[in-house]
Amino acid sequence: MKRRQFLQAGAFVGMASAGILSALPVSAADEAFVQPPLPYGLDGLKPFMSEEQMNFHYNKHHAGYYANLKKLVDGKPEAQWSLDDIVIKSEPGPVFNNAAQAWNHAFFWNCLAPVRKEGRPNVQNVQKLFAAIDRDFGGLAQFKEQFVAKATALFGSGWCWLAADKDGKLDILPLSNAGNPLKQGLKPLLVVDVWEHAYYIDYRNERGKFLKTFVEHIDWGFVSKNYG
Ligand code: MN
Repeated sequence: MKRRQFLQAGAFVGMASAGILSALPVSAADEAFVQPPLPYGLDGLKPFMSEEQMNFHYNKHHAGYYANLKKLVDGKPEAQWSLDDIVIKSEPGPVFNNAAQAWNHAFFWNCLAPVRKEGRPNVQNVQKLFAAIDRDFGGLAQFKEQFVAKATALFGSGWCWLAADKDGKLDILPLSNAGNPLKQGLKPLLVVDVWEHAYYIDYRNERGKFLKTFVEHIDWGFVSKNYG
C-alpha cells in the first residue's frame, strides 16, 4: 500500500513511539517529501474551520514546508532519510523547522474529526486513553480546560501537544515554533496548531475561541490509537 493510500485509510496510527510516520511500509525517502492528502475535504470541518481557512492552511502553508524542505535537502544525505528521522536527528535550523512543520501539520489534520452524521467526533475504543486522562488530569473536562489554557498562554507561534512518556503518563506540552515531542523521546498523541495562520481567517485574533472549539472537534479515536 502506498503511503498516501495508507494515510487516507486513516491507518497511520498506533505505531511504535519513535517513528509514527516512518513506520509506514515505504522506503525512507520514497514519499517522505510528499504532502499527504487531507483525511477529509477542504470543507469537511465547517463550521469549525471554513474552506477558505483550510485552503490557505493546507495548500499554502503546509504545502510550502514540503517545498522548502525538498529544496533544502537536495543533494544532501537527508534527502534519503525519512521525515521522522529528519525531525528527530536534525540540529536546530531551517531543515528541522521545515521538516517538523511538515510532520506536525500532517499529524494535526488527523487529530481533527469532521462533523459526522451522528453529530459528534469519533469516540470509539477510547477507554484506556480516557482512563489515563482521568488519572493524569482529573477528567476529560479538566483536560480540555488545561489544554486550552496552556495553548492560549503559549507566547508567539507554536504547537500545543498531548504526549505520553514511556510509562504511559500523559502531559500537555506547549512547544514554540516547530517543536515536536519526538525530540524529547515522547510519543505525540494530539496536537493543535497555534500559529496565527491556523485561525486568523475564521477567528481573527481570538485564539482562545479557536481552541475552545478545537477541543470539541478532536478525533479521539485517532488519539487513542496513538496512545496504544
Ligand atoms: Mn499551520
